[in-house]
Amino acid sequence: EAKNNGGSQYHVYHPDMFKRVAKRVELEGEVRQALLKKQFSIAMQPQLAAKDKKLIGFEALLRWEHPDRGMIPPDEFIPILENSEYMIELGYWVMRRCFELTAEFIEQGLVDVRVAINLSAMQFLDPHLSDYLRQLMRRFNIPAKHFELELTEQTLVSDIDKAINVMYSLKNIGFSFAIDDFGTGYSSLAYLKKMPVDVIKIDKSFVFGMLENHSDYQIIMSTIAMVKNLGLIVVAEGVESGAQLRSLTMNDCDIIQGYYFSKPVPEKELNEFISEKILDGYWKTQVKKDAT
Ligand code: C2E
Ligand code: MG
Ligand code: MG
Ligand code: MG
Repeated sequence: EAKNNGGSQYHVYHPDMFKRVAKRVELEGEVRQALLKKQFSIAMQPQLAAKDKKLIGFEALLRWEHPDRGMIPPDEFIPILENSEYMIELGYWVMRRCFELTAEFIEQGLVDVRVAINLSAMQFLDPHLSDYLRQLMRRFNIPAKHFELELTEQTLVSDIDKAINVMYSLKNIGFSFAIDDFGTGYSSLAYLKKMPVDVIKIDKSFVFGMLENHSDYQIIMSTIAMVKNLGLIVVAEGVESGAQLRSLTMNDCDIIQGYYFSKPVPEKELNEFISEKILDGYWKTQVKKDAT
């Protein structure tokens, strides 16, 4: 039982391994319960065009409101669930909820909205993924161009040939692809030209200190230049200050995501967010400033 749960490379049982397995089994049970009890929700973080502050769309970020433990951040449970069938089930729930929320966005007049969905390796290599997405497209009558699938370099290296095939098949029906946390994984450059990637997201760890740390700044600027030269779109995540925004905009970064504009917006606050912050598809404050 312990072996099947991911400890097979260990020949000597290590106390940490028991802890990890026990934690995962406990977590799997809790996730199943949490799905039934509707403790999960999606927070949507806006992505804006750097140049004119047009709302490009949102990244969907999973939230778990645990009755006893409060809000549990995704980094605390997704990595533990990574090889579990519950990650697939939870991923299906996320995708369905993203379709529901996207339908509402479109209804609210955000006709070009694009929602980015994070997929873990297990989800991406699930043989039913493409059927499930097609089913959602039919059920909600939303074309795939409204969705971007975010993969990390880690996801891609786990089975690169299979990943490329899956990417092409989903790309053919209209989904676009973003490489998330770019620069934190391995040998991404060699894969970039083989994969139908549309967007590169520069990891927030480079953005945080970009104006203080010379090498972070250089990494960002050369990544932007490379991505643009490849004809792809570049997103900076983790943008927290106006100074970062200006520097990225001046250096041709396409899309900005970060606390400077907005933290991820809880589902329940989305209507209010859109009516207060967005006007005709643009960030309102900018439109006001330009008009005066
Ligand atoms: P990610 O996909 O790289 O998402 C970006 C993370 O950066 C989010 O953390 C977001 O809240 C945070 N962030 C964005 N702008 C700023 C900023 O200006 N400052 C700071 N300090 N943080 C910022 P979050 O929501 O905690 O998600 C963490 C990770 O969990 C995500 O990283 C993603 O890898 C994973 N995740 C979240 N939702 C899902 C999901 O539905 N499925 C899967 N497979 N993974 C998910
Ligand atoms: Mg992401
Ligand atoms: Mg990221
Ligand atoms: Mg991440």
